[in-house]
Amino acid sequence: MRPTEDTYRHKGLRKKLVQAIHAKGITDDRVLDAMLAVPRHFFLDSAFDKKAYEDKAFPIGEGQTISQPYTVAYQSQLLQVEPLMKVLEIGTGSGYQAVVLAEMGIKVYSIERQKKLFESNRNFDFFNKYKSIKTFYGDGYMGLPTYAPFDRIIITAAAPEIPEKLIEQLKPGGMMVLPYGSGNLQQMKRITKLDSGATKEEVFDYFSFVPMLDGKKG
Ligand code: SAH
Repeated sequence: MRPTEDTYRHKGLRKKLVQAIHAKGITDDRVLDAMLAVPRHFFLDSAFDKKAYEDKAFPIGEGQTISQPYTVAYQSQLLQVEPLMKVLEIGTGSGYQAVVLAEMGIKVYSIERQKKLFESNRNFDFFNKYKSIKTFYGDGYMGLPTYAPFDRIIITAAAPEIPEKLIEQLKPGGMMVLPYGSGNLQQMKRITKLDSGATKEEVFDYFSFVPMLDGKKG
């Protein structure tokens, strides 16, 4: 069962979490304000009610996890979004990252390869209130050619290689943020597609994500 009540206790814990994320180096107020606005406990089973505001990843079923709040903040800050941008997310999972971006005024297109997780979000009333989020059941390696090009792409699973089809679906000047690598830890990368079509790569800290896998899972 999902909790649906956002109590003063939840709000207090959320404020402390956002302060802790700020102290860890996230300085973009738009990211911090969005995370303050989104009740993370709504995205977890009520069994996690007391833990939802710890800075940790938690299971969401199907062997997948909701990303750690610091990681969500880190990727959101690296994306350097502006309101009304079109952002493609690979790995909808719990839907939390998508809602944080929607709170920042972004139009989110999010793909999930696991049917059960995709369907669970279709029945998630709080999530469905965000009309600026469109979800898709499919393989993120393919992207969404029908809706391309995108201003930004965020991959929320560990990519063992740079998905070339996604680079093609970026606008010139667009950026993709992804955890890159196949080991236990992956390095966060930001790839900028230059006007010439060439790419520029920047590297950041190490994180641990579930793997980005090929194909759909029914
Ligand atoms: N953004 C999510 C993080 C979920 S974990 C959140 O905020 O909760 C990563 C998710 O990526 C998992 O749900 C996993 O099923 C999904 N995934 C892995 N490989 C994928 C692919 N090729 N296409 C789409 N989704 C993928």
